Amino acid sequence: MDGTSPRYLPWQENILRRALKLKRQRQLPHAVMIESASEQDISGFARYLSLLLLCDDPDDLSACANCEACRMMLAGTYSDFRLVTLEQDEKSKKISKNIKIEQIRDLKHEVSLTHQYDRLKIAAIYPAEAMSTAGANALLKTLEEPAAAVLLLLLTHNRGRIPITLRSRCQLWTINLPNRAQALDWLRQQGLSPQDAASYLEFGGGDPVLALHLQRNDYAALVTSFKARFGQFLRGELGVSSLCRELVATEIPMLRRLVDLTLNAYCYQSSGVDSGANPLPEANRQRAQRLLDLRQRAQNQLRVEENNLDLQLQLEDVLISLKQILTRRSI
Ligand SMILES: [Zn+2]
Repeated sequence: MDGTSPRYLPWQENILRRALKLKRQRQLPHAVMIESASEQDISGFARYLSLLLLCDDPDDLSACANCEACRMMLAGTYSDFRLVTLEQDEKSKKISKNIKIEQIRDLKHEVSLTHQYDRLKIAAIYPAEAMSTAGANALLKTLEEPAAAVLLLLLTHNRGRIPITLRSRCQLWTINLPNRAQALDWLRQQGLSPQDAASYLEFGGGDPVLALHLQRNDYAALVTSFKARFGQFLRGELGVSSLCRELVATEIPMLRRLVDLTLNAYCYQSSGVDSGANPLPEANRQRAQRLLDLRQRAQNQLRVEENNLDLQLQLEDVLISLKQILTRRSI
C-alpha cells in the first residue's frame, strides 16, 4: 500500500475534525505532536491533514480539490507546505535511519521566510523520533520563538523517544488503533474474508493496516512453513543455517514479527497460563523468564539491516538459544 499520497483512515477522522474545528476558531496551536499507536507509515495522513487545513473550501472532511492550495498541494508544488522525512539514498536505494540536521536547518530557514500565499504555512516532520539530537536542538529554537501563521506538525510512533523539551512545547494529539469491530469491518472492505480478517487482525496485534500488509504478503503461509521447519530443526533433522537461509529473504519487519510471535507463543505456554491444548508438562517460571529475556534480545538483534550476513548470524544465534531453552530439562 502506498502510504505517501494524501489519504486518511476512518479511525483518523477525529484528528481531522479537531484540526478543522481549531482552524475555524482560529485557535490552531503553533506546534502539534501527533502520535500514532500503529507502527505503519502515516506520511499519507500528514499530507491529507495538511491539505485539508490549507484548502479554502473543504466539504466536511473532503478537500475541494479545486482551490489554488488543493491544486498545488495535489501536484506537490505548494511552496508553503513542507514535509521533512527520511531520505532515500540515490545509489543504494536505502532509506536513511535519521532525519539529518541539514534537513531541519533547511526547514527552519523556510519557516522563517515570508509566506508565498495568504494562508497558513505548514511544516511537518515525520517520523519525528528519527531526528538526531542536534536536529531536535535546532528545532527547539523555532518552537521557542514561533513565527506567525506557521503550523509545525511533529508526527511520531513513539513520543517517548523525542526530547521532553520539544514534547512539552507541542499540543499532543493521539491516533489510537480502531476497536476490533471497526478494524474487522475495514479489513473486510479491503476484500478479506471474515475468517482472514479475524486471523490477520490477530497476527497484526490489533492493527488493521499491519494486518492487511501481512495478508498481502501471505504471512500465514510463512508462519505455517516456519512452524514445520522449526519442528524439524528442534528434532535435529534440519541445520540452523538452512533454516535461516530462507528466512533472511523475508522482509525484516515480517521476520521480526514471526520471531516475536514464536517466542511469545512459547512464553505463553511456559507461563502455564494456557490451560487449554497441550500445556508443556514441565512448564515453569524459569523457562518463561529465559524466553522473555530471549525475546527482548531478539528484538534488538534483528534490527540489523545493513547486510544479510549479519542478519543470518543474528537469526541463527536467536534460534539456537531458543532450541537450547526448549530442549533443556527443567530443574
Ligand atoms: Zn481546496
